[in-house]
Amino acid sequence: MTQQITVIGGGLAGCEAAWQAAKRGVKVRLYEMKPGKYSEAHHLPGLSELVCSNSLRGDSLENAVGLLKEELRRLDSLFMEGAEATKVPAGGALAVDRELFSNYITQKIEEHPDIEVVREELTHIPEEGIVVVASGPLTSGALAEEIGRLAGNYLYFYDAIAPIVAADSIDYDKAFRASRYGKGDGDDYLNCPMDEEQYHDFVKELLAAEKVEPKSFEKVVHFEGCMPIEEMASRGVETLRFGPMKPVGLTDPRVGVEPYAVIQLRQENREATMFNLVGFQTKLTWPEQKRIFRMIPGLEQAQFLRLGSMHRNTFINAPELLAATCQLKSDPRILFAGQITGVEGYVESASSGFVAGVNAARMAKGEELVVPPAETAIGALARHITNTEAAHFQPMNVNYGLFPPLIGRIKKKEKRGLLAQRGLEALQAWLPKVVAE
Ligand SMILES: Cc1cc2nc3c(=O)[nH]c(=O)nc-3n(C[C@H](O)[C@H](O)[C@H](O)COP(=O)(O)OP(=O)(O)OC[C@H]3O[C@@H](n4cnc5c(N)ncnc54)[C@H](O)[C@@H]3O)c2cc1C
Repeated sequence: MTQQITVIGGGLAGCEAAWQAAKRGVKVRLYEMKPGKYSEAHHLPGLSELVCSNSLRGDSLENAVGLLKEELRRLDSLFMEGAEATKVPAGGALAVDRELFSNYITQKIEEHPDIEVVREELTHIPEEGIVVVASGPLTSGALAEEIGRLAGNYLYFYDAIAPIVAADSIDYDKAFRASRYGKGDGDDYLNCPMDEEQYHDFVKELLAAEKVEPKSFEKVVHFEGCMPIEEMASRGVETLRFGPMKPVGLTDPRVGVEPYAVIQLRQENREATMFNLVGFQTKLTWPEQKRIFRMIPGLEQAQFLRLGSMHRNTFINAPELLAATCQLKSDPRILFAGQITGVEGYVESASSGFVAGVNAARMAKGEELVVPPAETAIGALARHITNTEAAHFQPMNVNYGLFPPLIGRIKKKEKRGLLAQRGLEALQAWLPKVVAE
């Protein structure tokens, strides 16, 4: 007899995981604490609630999230079926009616003969059996404590995200390679130098910029080491020059002197296709971030792969704790899915639920577990959360910077099309391994 699977959380990841497992003939018990208990951001009684925007973002293959959606369509995902059935006009994006979407998924899940929905908060992870933890960024307190015990020091409740730029959009005539006092390999960082006038203009714009107001449940005291840069700037005009923009120990080789201020960019992935702005966590609005950070010498044409943010978010340090199959390394019968693994966004959470659901079913049936190919969007994302350097791990949306680079010299404007084509070919080759009979 195959084992029954327990899924904790009936959100985007949990519903996809339950659906994929049930489709493969495995019985599922899905726990959802609503409507008895709501997180601060959930309001609808149904499953798979989109807590904020109704947009699932761009639908063209020019965006990695467009490719991710196309892959999920081909993988027969319930999330994409629900999105197509309830979509509303949104130009180049795919947007849905949030209530109809939630109703659609709820009905499909509740009507499935192999899924039992239990409307209860689960405060402990069952001690036996296969479990998928998909309780989301606002996991309830008691369960978060339990996950904290499993995760050791590797459970976080807040993310402080600095922006990331594409390596091929940086102007290397202005940014120079060096690490402070020549430490490490001596050239580990890219440094964007500023003169005095540029620094003062930059601080002025930061102070005047439009910020995102925190939700009432998000008002927190910022830790000194993790303060938004605009907050630092408001403490005094020189504060940033003694903080994340300090120039000491860095000499611009083109002029042979220390710049007035410096923004350091740290390599984000092994392929060096992405760099993050060190210490630049922020609550500026997205248009303001693009406008102001493009004032930084070397970043005038920057393509932002991720923008900065700070909000409440329960997530584990997946590179430390999870295998690429979504299993907890220390207890492989427990799988994690959704935003709690450090993916960011609706589509990304559903995609992570897909992998966890398929693998939970395979485990129940005694089959070999699968890992999606790195060239696919679903695989690039899975690889990011398990393969990134654990010390700097922060949640991330899918983007083409996460994909293994193409080989050879490729024109920039052709890159995305080729990455999408390579991804879909890899997916087609992988499909026979994962489709449900
Ligand atoms: C305020 C806010 C705004 C956001 N806005 C956007 C946006 O505009 N666009 C975007 O792409 N992403 C957004 N996100 C990210 C978004 O949360 C995720 O993309 C996505 O909803 C996460 O999916 P999930 O399945 O991991 O978690 P969720 O969809 O949150 O699902 C988790 C489910 O688990 C349930 N649950 C929690 N604890 C327990 C328990 N102990 N027992 C039983 N059930 C439990 C919850 O009630 C919930 O239904 C936002 C997040 C937040 C917090």
